[in-house]
Amino acid sequence: MTKPIEIRNPRTGKYDYVIVPPPPMLLTQLCNRLRRSQKSWQQIGLEGRIETLKQWKQAIISNQDKLTEALVTDTGRLSISELEIGSFLSSIDRWCRLAPKLLQETQQNTSIPFIDLQQTAVPYSLVGVISPWNFPLLLSTIDTIPALLAGCAVIVKPSEITPRFMTPLLSAINAVPQLRDVLTFVEGGGETGTAIVENVDLVCFTGSVATGRKVGEKAAKLFIPAFLELGGKDPAIVLESADLELATSAILWGSVVNTGQSCLSIERIYVAEAIFEEFVELLTAKAQRLRLAYPTVESGEIGPIISERQAAIISDHLLDAVEKGAIVHCGGKVEETGGGWWCRPTVLTEVNHAMKVMNEETFGPIMPIMPFSTVEEAINLANDSIYGLSAAVFAQDEAEALAVAQYINAGGISINDAALTALIYEGEKNSFKFSGLGGSRMGAAALTRFMRKKALLVKTKSIPDPWWFDAQ
Ligand code: NAD
Repeated sequence: MTKPIEIRNPRTGKYDYVIVPPPPMLLTQLCNRLRRSQKSWQQIGLEGRIETLKQWKQAIISNQDKLTEALVTDTGRLSISELEIGSFLSSIDRWCRLAPKLLQETQQNTSIPFIDLQQTAVPYSLVGVISPWNFPLLLSTIDTIPALLAGCAVIVKPSEITPRFMTPLLSAINAVPQLRDVLTFVEGGGETGTAIVENVDLVCFTGSVATGRKVGEKAAKLFIPAFLELGGKDPAIVLESADLELATSAILWGSVVNTGQSCLSIERIYVAEAIFEEFVELLTAKAQRLRLAYPTVESGEIGPIISERQAAIISDHLLDAVEKGAIVHCGGKVEETGGGWWCRPTVLTEVNHAMKVMNEETFGPIMPIMPFSTVEEAINLANDSIYGLSAAVFAQDEAEALAVAQYINAGGISINDAALTALIYEGEKNSFKFSGLGGSRMGAAALTRFMRKKALLVKTKSIPDPWWFDAQ
């Protein structure tokens, strides 16, 4: 027997749920079974797999109330949970629609007239997905759906902090016979995560840099690919020409949505000196209008901080900033109410890069703002980070913003909006620096990275041997 893990409710602080990780032997058996079933999953072809995923979607819709309820209890927030489920369901449709084109095998001529190339690809047998707590459903399925369509079997281990949603999701998987043989979710913490890496042929990991490094090292030893999607400290640059109404609304949303607990949250804001005061005033006024979602999930927009550990990090960053001279315009502290931890949207000025709030991932609804005098200075400040996940640039003129965006070292840049990479899946992007490693989970690569390419080279007419000596 493995040790049960007690799970905390983020709204009440009570430990009201228990998970039991599978013993290592059972996990290995499960992986072997999935790997065996993968062969027929590959053989049913793309059409068969698309049909099966559509059945899964219907089974989820039939069970949607239970899934919403579990996800709301896991995370303590309502509208984002509904958004998450909607986004997950539409991503099944989107990948089913795009897969036939993206996974097409091709036949083409080569540079040698009598040799043709048949380009094919073979899926990895078993993909392991290890995911974090901040969007439990979305991030445990974002790699899973393309991997299934590519023809892989998948084992998923979501975060032990938010495991309740797995029960209704597993019911929907079990309702689709062809799917349950090639897809499963398992409960567990770090030890189960380690065991997953040891049992699969490719791993997709989303989480912190510290854990990502461990996963990457283990995968390297085992000689399996690891796609790592890690932390961020996304900057927003607001140029002098920017529409301030638009910029403040977008930045507020990008900073505080999901209580700032998103990898692509705006965590640093750089504003042109000439508009700095006006920007701070406007952003503060808008931030003050947002309410905590307490006492009920419908009471406001800002949900609880997921855990005591995360609350302590936010608190530490705020204290450090204030000690070093930051000015708090609104919010500014972490409060314990009804057993949960909460933080109101917080605007800070007089901040600098010596403060944790400007150089470490905070994961809270905190908006530290710094003025800049030249565009070069803004770009240097934005790039002064170990992270390079995404960023945002605001300007009146799209070309002006794009000119700045090309110098920012990050994989996804939103122009005149924030966190657009959360909504748009078509564009390929790689994480820069410590924000990740491996193929893009967006665009065509989202599917093709789960396959090993094979070049079948066909000699089409008989040439006197040895033709290659004559060819030189
Ligand atoms: P975490 O690294 O603590 O845990 C992530 C997952 O890894 C969990 O399922 C956990 O059980 C598992 N795990 C822990 N130790 C492990 C080990 N040794 N081997 C294998 N698995 C192990 O991260 P978290 O606190 O759950 O998530 C927050 C982090 O995730 C933040 O840094 C955030 O920026 C990042 N994140 C990144 C993206 C992205 O797309 N880049 C998206 C969301 C979150």
